Amino acid sequence: MDIKTYLYNTLTKRVEEFKPNEAGKVAMYTCGPTVYHFAHIGNLRSYIMEDVLEKYLRYVGYDVTRVMNITDVGHLTSDGDTGEDKMLKGAKRENKTVMDIARFYTEAFMADCEKLLIKRPDIVEPATNCIPEFIHMIEVLLEKGYAYVAGENVYFDTSKLDNYYVLSSQNEEDLQVGVREDVEEDTNKKNKTDFVLWFTKSKFDNQELKWDSPWGVGYPGWHIECSCISIKHLGEYMDIHCGGVDNIFPHHTNEIAQSEAYIGHKWCNYWFHVNHLNTTSGKMSKSKGEFLTVSLLEEKGYNPMVYRMFCLLSHYRKPLEFSWDALDNVATAYDKLLRRIANLSEEGETDKEAFGEYEKKFAEALGNDMNTSSAITVLYDMLKADMNDGTKRALVARYEEVLSLRLTAAWEEKEECLDEEFVSYIERKIEQRAEAKKAKDFATADAIREELAQRGIVLKDSREGTTWMPA
Ligand code: AMP
Ligand code: ZN
Repeated sequence: MDIKTYLYNTLTKRVEEFKPNEAGKVAMYTCGPTVYHFAHIGNLRSYIMEDVLEKYLRYVGYDVTRVMNITDVGHLTSDGDTGEDKMLKGAKRENKTVMDIARFYTEAFMADCEKLLIKRPDIVEPATNCIPEFIHMIEVLLEKGYAYVAGENVYFDTSKLDNYYVLSSQNEEDLQVGVREDVEEDTNKKNKTDFVLWFTKSKFDNQELKWDSPWGVGYPGWHIECSCISIKHLGEYMDIHCGGVDNIFPHHTNEIAQSEAYIGHKWCNYWFHVNHLNTTSGKMSKSKGEFLTVSLLEEKGYNPMVYRMFCLLSHYRKPLEFSWDALDNVATAYDKLLRRIANLSEEGETDKEAFGEYEKKFAEALGNDMNTSSAITVLYDMLKADMNDGTKRALVARYEEVLSLRLTAAWEEKEECLDEEFVSYIERKIEQRAEAKKAKDFATADAIREELAQRGIVLKDSREGTTWMPA
């Protein structure tokens, strides 16, 4: 498709036209989850928006290869090199081994992604699979003079770079202010910003996962895994690297430092960062202990698609505040949208001109720095536009390739929804149930819910009233 793609690039701090290294092909990398706990819906916001980016690139015709790591070793509770090992913390919490924890939460993460229709990246590689490759990379960094051994750990020497802060706007003074007093200082480091490539002198005596290395038995630092796994699978030139904004510093800054020192030239051209999902008290985070998961949303009666739509309705670069009221509004809008789509008939041959026009409008909205909410507006406009239902169905199916909101399931699984008489029957029943509830006749209200459930319709009550969904 002849479409220009514009993306905000954290590296240049402006919106730029996206041009991959090799025409028609995109090499894309995503920082994967640290598998010591369930992913919260904030983490999943990042993965949803990255998924839409990947699917958009495919929609406009790129051949995308996407790689993701699974962090199962080396990530400490501070993103620098201090604090506890997150995996060990998870293992202690649950009285299991680190590998059991890693396996369990990797599967849980994949299951959440499936529920949210997040495509599995072409290559998914756990960090613990690549220890020999990490060791090799660290050896090369030592040979080239970018790394040093101190106190039996191996460190990256950030003073060897012309501009360590190439990605972030951090500078040494900012860092001084940011340093918390309780964070112990690592006296082995030559410079404050140096970071660990390989730990041997671990302060964790009971570190379970350890490997032999030229510097002694130990384990890799967190940052090396992403440099190494991406270069292993995508080669020395990468087009887009993704992650949440909290990854910009130090994680991605350190990735660039190591990768470019190792390969000896510029590594990745575009950096795509998704802003945070916040609660009223700030960033949703695993370490705070209180966080929402997809399973919890399901327990409360929400279809995971509603959360995906909630994310798509706002721009990935803006912080997004979560509230139940906002989610309820999206649930209502999603139900209406599905019903609208379910009621499209199969009449009419695809009008090629109208199809092409709306196919392009949708791509243009996303090509404008992934404006997902305006892409959804294009969907609504298309549904209202003057064209036959057959063309509209074809366009819904085409948009679904990117939006992944189960928009076409309405035709495939829920034939009953097509029946207008049945829809008005459901609505009549919902009214009767509301009246019964008002009159405190809960037996009747429950019987109505049960009857509709028997017929494959699920009711959901919220402050705005009752909505329904095919089960
Ligand atoms: P982690 O499992 O902590 O390594 O994080 C996985 C991904 O989620 C990373 O790309 C983070 O940047 C991202 N992330 C963490 N917290 C949030 C949040 N509250 N909102 C959006 N993305 C987040
Ligand atoms: Zn990473």
